[in-house]
Amino acid sequence: MTSQRTRERMLARLREQGIKDEVTLSAMGSIARHIFVDEALSSRAYEDVSLPIGFGQTISQPYIVARMTEILRANGVLDKVLEIGTGCGYQTAILSKVAKEVYSVERISPLIMKARGHLRELRMRNIKLKHADGTLGLPELAPFDGIIVTAAASHIPQDLLAQLAVGGRMVIPVGTEEQILYLIERTETEYRQTKLEAVKFVPLLGGTN
Ligand code: SAH
Repeated sequence: MTSQRTRERMLARLREQGIKDEVTLSAMGSIARHIFVDEALSSRAYEDVSLPIGFGQTISQPYIVARMTEILRANGVLDKVLEIGTGCGYQTAILSKVAKEVYSVERISPLIMKARGHLRELRMRNIKLKHADGTLGLPELAPFDGIIVTAAASHIPQDLLAQLAVGGRMVIPVGTEEQILYLIERTETEYRQTKLEAVKFVPLLGGTN
């Protein structure tokens, strides 16, 4: 159920769903997804579904993880990436394969501890996790050439826009009932917004827990 063959079937499905970036696909093929979910769910880890990770939160479905990674990577190599919403750390692990440095912020303390455990198992050294309110970003480490928000925002947080490097890209789901994935590209003079597709995420909340 958790074998290399199962992972290869997941990759074939991602290609059918339109994921084209080989670097993203290779990252998805190299990280075991089942270690990020509870043992009782591990047989479902490679299905294209989101699964519960506790505290009312979910691990995103493989398609959306791949899609957001592919969009973020469209300019090629990523140096410094900020993720808001670590959850169980799966998207963080994928990012660590496609970026030099990954910073990930989570507001629920026990989830950060879970993610730390999973990522330690994989011995990933270019990841730093922080327990904080991600709507504020990480000003002390800005600017970032990629920002990925894995919870749905009611509006795009101003602090995150300010921490995006010129030439950088942000992917963020926006909306409450109906959510749309947005790409924000920062140029010398503006923030260019592109609507991508309908998505379903847990809400981005303020404060910590
Ligand atoms: N990236 C995860 C998705 C986890 S679900 C994955 O790979 O599966 C979204 C996560 O965002 C939840 O864990 C939730 O607690 C977190 N979150 C919501 N609002 C947040 C905020 N303001 N700051 C940081 N994390 C937040």
